[in-house]
Amino acid sequence: MNQRWPEWLSLNENIRALKPYGAPQIPAQVRLNTNENPYHLEEGLQSKIISEISKRVGNLNRYPDRDAVELRTSLAAYINGISKTDFSYEQIWAANGSNEILQSIVMAFAGDAMGFEPSYSMHPLITKSVGKEWISISRGPEFIFELDVAMEAIKTQRPGIVFLTTPNNPTGGSISLTDIAEVAGIALSVGAILVVDEAYAEFSKQSSAVTIIKDHPNLIVSRTMSKAFAFAGARLGYMISNPILIDAMLLVRLPYHLSELTQAAALAALQNQSGLQQQVEQIKNSRDFLEQELSKLGLNVISSDANFLMFSGFKASSQELWQRLVDRQVLIRDVGIAGYLRVTIGTESENKAFLAALQQALHS
Ligand SMILES: *Cc1c(COP(=O)(O)O)cnc(C)c1O
Repeated sequence: MNQRWPEWLSLNENIRALKPYGAPQIPAQVRLNTNENPYHLEEGLQSKIISEISKRVGNLNRYPDRDAVELRTSLAAYINGISKTDFSYEQIWAANGSNEILQSIVMAFAGDAMGFEPSYSMHPLITKSVGKEWISISRGPEFIFELDVAMEAIKTQRPGIVFLTTPNNPTGGSISLTDIAEVAGIALSVGAILVVDEAYAEFSKQSSAVTIIKDHPNLIVSRTMSKAFAFAGARLGYMISNPILIDAMLLVRLPYHLSELTQAAALAALQNQSGLQQQVEQIKNSRDFLEQELSKLGLNVISSDANFLMFSGFKASSQELWQRLVDRQVLIRDVGIAGYLRVTIGTESENKAFLAALQQALHS
């Protein structure tokens, strides 16, 4: 369905053929379609956020800290704590969700962007929206990232920006740190920035690529509080890199882009994250349970390092099975890959409701 724009409207050519990002936001009792953490913020944390925000409400006549130094310091401490690194705020940049981070990166650095698909649909959408070419390289069988294919593609097509998503969305698998280091090296040799999108890093068994930033001046690791942190509604994403790349972000950010309220809420969440680890463990256990249950139903499940599972092996088309689940009040994601669907790990009761609905849907 191509939108028809009126004659008089001089829309940018590069966005004319695009479709807006469109995970359906339709009402369903069980919503397992956008990879959020299914648990509410703990009540103690909710009160801390409210009290931090209320302290600042009186000063909303003033602009916020444009450089969000306190928040970036706190993000550095969080990363240093989980990855045993030694970053300071000069190596962190924060924005309204990691999508804004990705957009700033694509605006700041020259050249076309390359990615290994299927992967996160916003990488091509953001690239095209700023008027750059998107170079799509296919993953291998079972959606595995193939290092030799990637190396060859970067050498011959010389992109300006390379995206790696690990764990990958929508497929769930990770890329090894040694492969990431190889890609960073070849990217540097053609003058490209490597962006490692780690939106799901907290769910992964593997170490973060932040641990190799010191060896790779062109490496950016993008992270978010939207997934593991149960903070999607607050909109806070960030990146970690060599400080010179952060300086480039300052050229393209909008003044005062991160509101005082966002900064206050994110700081409170970072300073009170004791419950986080337990929630992440619970989600990982549920993921492993759900993987087994789906296999018992005769489905093929791709092994996942994230908080979602992609599965295939059903007779209906993806759209049909998706609709049958919606009819049973369960919303999962049709990611546009024929024969596959993706389900986000929910609470235990949501997972049970999904399994029950799926069992019916498979046989109707
Ligand atoms: C969800 C997701 C993001 C981010 O989103 P924000 O909410 O904007 O931080 C980024 N990358 C991938 C791969 C994702 O799945």
